[in-house]
Amino acid sequence: MSDLLSGLNPEQLSAVTWPAKSALVLAGAGSGKTRVLTTRIAWLIQTGQVSPAGILAVTFTNKAAREMQTRLGAMIPVNVKTMWIGTFHGLCNRFLRAHYRDAGLPSTFQILDSADQQAAIKRLLKSLDVSDEKFPPRAVQNFINGNKESGVRADALSAHDAYTKKLIELYAAYDAQCQREGVVDFAELLLRSYEVLSRNAALAEHYKSRFRFILVDEFQDTNRLQYAWLKLLAGRDNALFAVGDDDQSIYAFRGAEVGNMRSLLVDFGIDGPVRLEQNYRSAGNILTAANALIEKNDGRLGKNLWTEAGEGEPIRLYDAYSDGDEAEFICDEVKALQRDGWRLSDIAVLYRSNAQSRALEHALVNAKLPYRVYGGLRFFERQEIKHALAYLRLIANPDDDNALLRVINIPARGIGARTVEGLQAASREQGISLWQAACASGSGRAAASLGKFVLLIDQLRARTSTLNLAETVSLLLDDSGLKAMYEADKKESEERLANLDELINAAAGFFPQDPEQAVVEFLSAASLEAGEHQAEAGQDALQLMTVHAAKGLEFDAVFVSGLEEGLFPHENSFNDPKGLEEERRLMYVAVTRARKRLYLSSAQSRMLHGLSRYPIRSRFVDEVPGQLLHVLSATVKPLPVSHNARAPWLEQPPPSRPSANLKGFAIGQSVTHAKFGLGVVIDAEGGGDDVRLHINFAEHGLKWLDLRYAKLSAA
Ligand code: ATP
Ligand code: MG
Repeated sequence: MSDLLSGLNPEQLSAVTWPAKSALVLAGAGSGKTRVLTTRIAWLIQTGQVSPAGILAVTFTNKAAREMQTRLGAMIPVNVKTMWIGTFHGLCNRFLRAHYRDAGLPSTFQILDSADQQAAIKRLLKSLDVSDEKFPPRAVQNFINGNKESGVRADALSAHDAYTKKLIELYAAYDAQCQREGVVDFAELLLRSYEVLSRNAALAEHYKSRFRFILVDEFQDTNRLQYAWLKLLAGRDNALFAVGDDDQSIYAFRGAEVGNMRSLLVDFGIDGPVRLEQNYRSAGNILTAANALIEKNDGRLGKNLWTEAGEGEPIRLYDAYSDGDEAEFICDEVKALQRDGWRLSDIAVLYRSNAQSRALEHALVNAKLPYRVYGGLRFFERQEIKHALAYLRLIANPDDDNALLRVINIPARGIGARTVEGLQAASREQGISLWQAACASGSGRAAASLGKFVLLIDQLRARTSTLNLAETVSLLLDDSGLKAMYEADKKESEERLANLDELINAAAGFFPQDPEQAVVEFLSAASLEAGEHQAEAGQDALQLMTVHAAKGLEFDAVFVSGLEEGLFPHENSFNDPKGLEEERRLMYVAVTRARKRLYLSSAQSRMLHGLSRYPIRSRFVDEVPGQLLHVLSATVKPLPVSHNARAPWLEQPPPSRPSANLKGFAIGQSVTHAKFGLGVVIDAEGGGDDVRLHINFAEHGLKWLDLRYAKLSAA
């Protein structure tokens, strides 16, 4: 036991060995919250207070869950694979699989990821003849998910205005459609589990007496429903051990509520939070920068973080000429680090938005640096993989309408849009699935094609019933004609074919808990892990991810890229102080991922949506105390003193020639205005007589000016 507890500081020790009652550990980044939580699980088991089956541990990502299992396995000899350690979604999926009857679901229910859900909504709108301009699928999706995450069903909602009334109607119709098809979306996993538990006292009692210890990491990012679910499971007698950091709350946009931390103290009768103040992760300069940044936010619960580590290296700052230049700089630095003996997997490049990975990836490929993207277009989201999985879904459950629609005519087999519409009409009128409609279709050419499709699926099901998962996947790739379709276009499809092969590998390496349910479990794993599985397992690779995806992780060296106004902080946050504070917390998360070395980079021009933009550098860079910085780029000017004085950053954007389209002005040109004084043209839009220039004025900041009215002259 001493082994387990040695090395912990007194506060950590007290948290790890906390008696069997609830607690909240509130502490800053890198103070050992996750380590404390994992060690507590090991300690509880080792001291015989609970068996591994009596633990429920919730993490934020699958990657974090795996990491926790690995660490736990290294601490004590238990079979971590069978323990209930996972994300909210993963655990609820497991729960619903075990109690599908109580949940009113087919045993083979499938999970809709966000894109599937949107497709399902689009289909619904079409079938109800609702305009998707008036009711954009995205907005309907947000409405549905927002309500589900608050635990509210359509029948509990009411509205006075016609628009909201319609949204409520769509919500109800969507749920009915999912139910008919035997599919659940992410939010539904949670809500359904919650409902099953709250309606079924005996079942709730069973789980309550089983999970004596419930532990939650990243508690600040739980939403209302998740908290309600935890409360339900914990009941009055169980101990809920939550760790979190209000300064790292970065999911408010998805309904997370920091207020849950305060509620926890009240609801569970906790006297006060346990605090950990020593940071073990980052070098002094990095921690000082993080503290300085987060201090700018109001209404914090307040924390003090210090480290025994020395100052370490200065924070490196690079203001690139362009996004391409920024990417090249990062590649060069990574190569230099590699030469100095750093491992690629200990280096991360973080960005605010997924789209930013493209320029980086391009440079990395050129530089022949292996990398892995977490988030973005992932293996299980690629077209060919989704096609193959749709066949697999149909084998498991032919009533899955989404899957059927995806591949009914892929590869092309003469089933046209009109035939599909006919099926949809029949399904609507008779309340049956598309598959059932297809089985019942009469005679004629269209029916013959449908008959062949039905036969194909039936045969696949029959032929794979005695095969293992990998053989099943391999057979369906051949028999469906999917492989042949890509082989016909080999040059274009080399990568897709490689991916399909890789899918067979993934199936072969998959170990289901219940071999009878291998296909269903595999499909669930594919949906749940879409974000975190990369193809080249085992290879040392640079880690690329959004800041959101980096939560809870740590790396020896971290690049925070794209530090520009509009990008990070994101432009959506500009008019909302709360939004800006969330962006700052995101920056705090980014900075505190670094152990030894931190790079901050920005670009003076960046391609966005096919156009060059000339952004100004992020205010977050200015919030880092200047003495911590080491400026690497010759193009970087001294830090501006205030946000109005940002002109120095824009004096020399990449040159462009004066253009007739811009009435003789050019991007990058210095101009003067009668009222606003000196400025630099950074962007333009419109054409002909109607031209507007985006100008950064030294004294007055950014302005859009209409050339028809503005009194502007070359400086
Ligand atoms: P975050 O808020 O980013 O999730 P955290 O509070 O969960 O951070 P951990 O990831 O648990 O922090 O710990 C940060 C690092 O410090 C880890 O590498 C961990 O192993 C190390 N660490 C924690 N406590 C100690 C300790 N007492 N002695 C040595 N190293 C420690
Ligand atoms: Mg952590």
